[in-house]
Amino acid sequence: MNTAEVKKIWEEIKQDLKTKIPAHEYEPWIAPLEAVSFEDNQFTIISGQSFGVEYIKRKLYKIILECFKNYFSKEIIINIEFDKNLADKIKKDKQKLEKKLQKEHQAEEEHKKSIENLSYVKSLNINLRYRFENFVEDENNRIAKAAAQSVAQNPTAKYNPLYIQGGSGLGKTHLMQAIGHYITMNGNLKVQCIKTEDFINDYVNSTAFIPNKNTTSAMNKFRNKYRNVDILLIDDIQFIENKKKCIDELFNTFDTLYNANKQIVLTSDKLPKDLPEIPKRLRTRFEQGLIVEIQPPKFETRVQILKNFSHEKGIENISDEVFEYIAKYYKDNVRELEGAFTKVNAYSDIEETKITLEYAKKVLKCEENFSRPTIDKIIDIVAEYYEISSDDIKSTSRVQNISYARAIACFIAREKLQTSYENIANSLNKRHQTVMYAADKIKKLIKTDKKINSDVNKIIKKIGF
Ligand code: ADP
Ligand code: MG
Repeated sequence: MNTAEVKKIWEEIKQDLKTKIPAHEYEPWIAPLEAVSFEDNQFTIISGQSFGVEYIKRKLYKIILECFKNYFSKEIIINIEFDKNLADKIKKDKQKLEKKLQKEHQAEEEHKKSIENLSYVKSLNINLRYRFENFVEDENNRIAKAAAQSVAQNPTAKYNPLYIQGGSGLGKTHLMQAIGHYITMNGNLKVQCIKTEDFINDYVNSTAFIPNKNTTSAMNKFRNKYRNVDILLIDDIQFIENKKKCIDELFNTFDTLYNANKQIVLTSDKLPKDLPEIPKRLRTRFEQGLIVEIQPPKFETRVQILKNFSHEKGIENISDEVFEYIAKYYKDNVRELEGAFTKVNAYSDIEETKITLEYAKKVLKCEENFSRPTIDKIIDIVAEYYEISSDDIKSTSRVQNISYARAIACFIAREKLQTSYENIANSLNKRHQTVMYAADKIKKLIKTDKKINSDVNKIIKKIGF
């Protein structure tokens, strides 16, 4: 009889045995037995437990014989033998099972921990989107990313503080929060992640005089929050400029943490040397670790960022040319790059239209919007026309011909760029009311003064509107 048939018979007899032998005996001794042959009226069963063989022979042999007799309707000789190979196999299986269980247990524990950590990360105001894995790397941000990862994996070991500098929307907050995220998910170190504005507000609230308020206790609470941590992450540190009292507090916080060998990470849109309002003692502390700069991403990186972004939002089947079109124009700010894609997507939802290259062009009108002269170009050409310098226009000079040219620039920028007074004011280093007043003055003058009217028209032509 072949082995498969033998095994089949044994399985059937085992079913019978199961009903006749109590489970506490069946499970340890009978269940693991294996049938190997049935020849010359002899049925051979092997066991991997030598003690099991003894036990069966002594206590269960009779029942086994009976079951065989019922099955075959005749007397059968039963050999039960100890088998070393089976014993080894059982041992190995047991070890495997134990390992598997251990792994499962470990995975369960890790899962539990990661859920606990996740809610903890959320409570830290860390955006869960901001991770190293989804920060697209290229040569313009590689050093910053590597330094951030090194700090995350090994706080205080090398770069303390880590100072991340870069223009708006280039991923400073993303990298900084990725450090917080990583540390929280992979260890027990205490992280505090804050915006500089919140630090300032917190400080002001703690020190503000309110009748019956216990200022000492409020201050202790404040200090505990920022000093009793392993990693302090402060975003947009440039906002601390001109906040003298906060600067002192930050300075002390910095020293307390640094001396206790705690990690500090700062981000800023300016390098420490370009923050003249920050006292030297604090600036040199910013500079004593590592400063890394992030430059705008390259074209391929921008395309990849858009692809990931759309995938993350569950928007699939968008052709590469759409991503490439957006990436071609939005070069300097990833937030705006993502914003442009979000806009196209929102319009396509509302208008129930598929996103194609044509559709993206229709919504964003990049060709038109990006070829428009900039405020700087307007300033340059107005300055040239009146034979002064562009810096004169941006200066605070009140010399008549300069403030006159400046007013013309404000008027043209406002009329032709349809941009906010705020924007124009920023480019001119002026207040927004000043720009509004100047533009308004010229608007009235061109109606009455032919010379001004013709000058303005000539300039507008020169600019290329
Ligand atoms: P910043 O703090 O420098 O102003 P953020 O960190 O807020 O910029 O980034 C703006 C947006 O751009 C975020 O959604 C961020 O995830 C994304 N972003 C920036 N750089 C990258 C990059 N290299 N890879 C992926 N996403 C990026
Ligand atoms: Mg930011």
